[in-house]
Amino acid sequence: MAIDSDKKSKKKNKIKSEGDHKRKLQDTQDLQAVVETKKDKKKKKKEEALSDGSVLNGSDDKISSKKIKKNHEEAEKIDGSVQDCVGEVRESNEGIVVSGKDVNDSKFRPLKSFEEAGLPDEVLECCKTFDKPSPIQANSWRFLLEGRDFIGIAKTGSGKTLAFGVPAIMHVLNKKKNQTCKRLNPQCLVLSPTRELAQQISDVLCDAGKPSGVKSVCIYGGTSKGPQISALKSGVDIVIGTPGRLRDLIEMGVCYLKDVSYVVLDEADRMLDMGFEPEVRAILNQTNSVRQMIMFSATWPVSVHQLAQEFMDPNPVKVVVGSEDLAANHDVMQIVEVLEDRARDERLVTLLDKYHKSRSNRVLVFVLYKKEASRVETMLQRRGWKVVSISGDKAQHARTNALSLFKDGSCPLLIATDVAARGLDIPDVEVVINYSFPLTTEDYVHRIGRTGRAGKKGVAHTFFTKENKGLSGELINVLKEAGQVVPAALMNFGTHVKKKESKLYGAHFKEIDANAPKATKIKFDSDDED
Ligand code: AMP
Repeated sequence: MAIDSDKKSKKKNKIKSEGDHKRKLQDTQDLQAVVETKKDKKKKKKEEALSDGSVLNGSDDKISSKKIKKNHEEAEKIDGSVQDCVGEVRESNEGIVVSGKDVNDSKFRPLKSFEEAGLPDEVLECCKTFDKPSPIQANSWRFLLEGRDFIGIAKTGSGKTLAFGVPAIMHVLNKKKNQTCKRLNPQCLVLSPTRELAQQISDVLCDAGKPSGVKSVCIYGGTSKGPQISALKSGVDIVIGTPGRLRDLIEMGVCYLKDVSYVVLDEADRMLDMGFEPEVRAILNQTNSVRQMIMFSATWPVSVHQLAQEFMDPNPVKVVVGSEDLAANHDVMQIVEVLEDRARDERLVTLLDKYHKSRSNRVLVFVLYKKEASRVETMLQRRGWKVVSISGDKAQHARTNALSLFKDGSCPLLIATDVAARGLDIPDVEVVINYSFPLTTEDYVHRIGRTGRAGKKGVAHTFFTKENKGLSGELINVLKEAGQVVPAALMNFGTHVKKKESKLYGAHFKEIDANAPKATKIKFDSDDED
């Protein structure tokens, strides 16, 4: 039976990977076809322009030479624009895949500069420190400004907050322009799975909206409701919130979302992983039925796909930034150490003596469970280390405080659960130590991606115990792909990979069986957000 199902799954994976390959080929062919058609049309126009000149040449020399020159100039322009078009397609093909209805229409060509977007200065003020739009911004703004539903497969760090944030501000300004009475209800909603991410988005959007008078409020649990209720009552344009608290405030009748016509689900995969699906559905049903839906997700599992199918236009734009394979940042040196569970405390202290000798460089230590975070924090404090931690069971003010101490460098040693693994933009983390291996290899890749950012090199030192051996095959693949050393002790756990399909985008192109039994989430003693 087991062998049978293994065979079946192998066959399924083979079919899937062939399907993916065909799809990719089809995408490339489609793209080429577009370029070819554009090229052909322009070539024809160019030929016509030139032949037009040669006919004239015979009748009137003076006029004809002028016309020929003009026609040649036009031909040059056409040639240039063909190249531009090819260049754009090539550029958009480099690590970016754009799909969906009419995405190759020239009005949606990627932005090369912020100015090209033609937005008011006060809206572009938030981008003035950046040279040019990041790839996700370059490939999203035109669609979002046009009102299209949008799926972005992009991680935090890609500039995605402004990718959806700037069009959100424009959405508010356009609605304000068309209204007579002073509107008090929010028009945009951003849902975030964690408090920290919600606050981070809120900081960006509050700043970005200031020059144009667009107000944002952050609604999250673990802190008093009073100020959030007052902010909502005083009138806000954009609400950024975590699902639990938002639902509470909706039920209390203080958060009215019927005027919300621009909705962003950020880190949709994580939101569903954390069991927020009922809240997300309930909240979406409170928003205006005529709305623009935007989903950002680092991965594309079936659950997220299903949500998109249910709440989005049948033809959303989809932009995938980066590789479709599970790959670690190659600027990070990955060291994996196989050891006994009980040996980790001593080893951590030894490693801190090595990596955190100056006590001024940023070191991030990941643990799996919130109780582990406090235990390791206390253990290190007893041994004289200045350390802070963030995890779900800390009061919100303590989490915010710990994060800002780490960010501003006053306490550059932070213990974190996976809540901090994604979503937070912490600059200059020199070393990541995985005290506990995460529950998935994807989380491992996200965790180690906290270092080696902005062109810098980083180190990720990981403890791997026999309890983690089920993930050894996947980890070995990640190490190999990045050209890292695979320790023999890790190889001894085996190279078997349970799921052949990429967990990251595995279900991306699969048909969804609506009758398939739903996976139930098993809750560990890990972080719960509200
Ligand atoms: P995000 O993915 O939104 O969390 O953004 C990650 C980081 O990229 C933030 O520190 C932003 O300030 C920065 N950022 C956003 N847009 C750009 C851009 N166009 N060029 C360079 N950095 C950017």
